[in-house]
Amino acid sequence: MLVAGRTDILASRRAVLGLAAGGLATAAALRRAEAARTATKARIVIVGAGAAGTAMANRLVERLDGATITLVDGRAEHWYQPGLSLVAAGLRPASYTVSKTTDWLPQGVTLVPEAAAGIDPVAKSVTTTSGKRLPYDFLIVAPGLVLDYAAIEGFSLDLIGRGGIGSLYAGPDYAAKTWAVASAFADKGGKGLFTRPATEMKCAGAPLKHTFLIEDIAGRRAGKGKYEITYAAHNDALFSVPIVSEKVRMLFQERGIKTVYSHVLKSVDPGRRIATFATPKGDQQMEYDYLHVIPPQRAPEVIRQSGLSWGDRWKDQGWVEVDQKTLRHRRFPEVFAIGDVAGVPKGKTAASVKWQVPVVEDHLVATIEGRQSSAAYDGYTSCPLITRVGRAMLVEFDYNNNLTPSFPGVIAPLEELWISWLMKEVALKATYNAMLRGRA
Ligand SMILES: Cc1cc2nc3c(=O)[nH]c(=O)nc-3n(C[C@H](O)[C@H](O)[C@H](O)COP(=O)(O)OP(=O)(O)OC[C@H]3O[C@@H](n4cnc5c(N)ncnc54)[C@H](O)[C@@H]3O)c2cc1C
Repeated sequence: MLVAGRTDILASRRAVLGLAAGGLATAAALRRAEAARTATKARIVIVGAGAAGTAMANRLVERLDGATITLVDGRAEHWYQPGLSLVAAGLRPASYTVSKTTDWLPQGVTLVPEAAAGIDPVAKSVTTTSGKRLPYDFLIVAPGLVLDYAAIEGFSLDLIGRGGIGSLYAGPDYAAKTWAVASAFADKGGKGLFTRPATEMKCAGAPLKHTFLIEDIAGRRAGKGKYEITYAAHNDALFSVPIVSEKVRMLFQERGIKTVYSHVLKSVDPGRRIATFATPKGDQQMEYDYLHVIPPQRAPEVIRQSGLSWGDRWKDQGWVEVDQKTLRHRRFPEVFAIGDVAGVPKGKTAASVKWQVPVVEDHLVATIEGRQSSAAYDGYTSCPLITRVGRAMLVEFDYNNNLTPSFPGVIAPLEELWISWLMKEVALKATYNAMLRGRA
């Protein structure tokens, strides 16, 4: 179903990117409806009703007949996180990114509106915060990740939106507060400091997008010469894919955006407006008028305590130990991980989720049917990398850092184009929503 051939692959990718989402979505839904559903009494528990968990629940309901599918998530709101970059640049209100978790759930799925507090992969059960025990035959782990703001000394969420501090990752309201201070900076100018963490992170393009957007807006408001923008990279590159990193370096140079490398934000002194970075040469202090903070990111505590994390990789982060092609746990074959929590070298984006979910669906259904699946996730990740209001570069790549353009010869991946901007600004949300419903 998933990896039938290049045509299907391209079609799916186009659906991710929003082009022809409606037509392809309908075709995909029809194909699935036509396929016979597999009869089973399997108990399937999905932890997390975000992008990955919701998409998975919708697809499994259509594939299986008689399964007990339980979704565990204590958050009543669903956040469309790719929209946070737009909110933090004043291009959309916070409400653009918020819907109800229950808006996306199909009949046939039971939502337990609580967080998972414990997972026992040996006993095969999940325990919720109220102590409810949910035994499973298959477990799909999809709780996303946690933002470890506590790791930055002197920082707390209540600082966001005050004293020149922003952090758009913290959620819709915080993204709006971020815009309030970023907007004041764009009006007045001064020193803008943009950071990213040294851990793995979701949408590694987002720190760059925010830098580009605020520089663009400041250029039109305060005017060139009135502000100085510095991007603090955590290592010696601006992006994990070398050719993209080099392109961003060239654009930063053209735009007068300074870069410091191997600078990891360690502490903030909001009173003095000083940020301290750990660097190979020791701690370095930098002044700011606007500081954008993106904290370290880790697997949720429930995962880190469960014994499902890698033992020898990402030790301080706790991502789930899965095979990078099948997303199946390497020690507990009835467990899969999808989305940001999966311990794979690339893929903490919604676009990756779209590509991962059908792979796991096929392996799970194949196991129930007693057959082997050959479906494989190749690390596909997509990032419409906004460089200005109205311009973006459509960057798509795989585990091997190969650029994997969906529209070769039509949309050049490393060019700043209006069509790529439209994909982020308009088409991505429609496609994301179709994905949630299991139709893209
Ligand atoms: C600023 C920003 C910009 C982005 N831009 C893009 C973009 O342009 N393109 C793109 O493709 N992707 C983008 N992303 C990334 C994308 O949003 C994520 O990769 C995607 O949402 C991951 O899906 P997920 O289901 O793994 O996690 P999430 O969507 O975060 O969902 C996780 C769910 O798990 C729940 N949960 C947490 N802990 C527990 C628990 N203990 N028990 C039960 N439930 C739990 C949460 O409440 C949440 O509902 C962006 C992200 C951010 C923050």
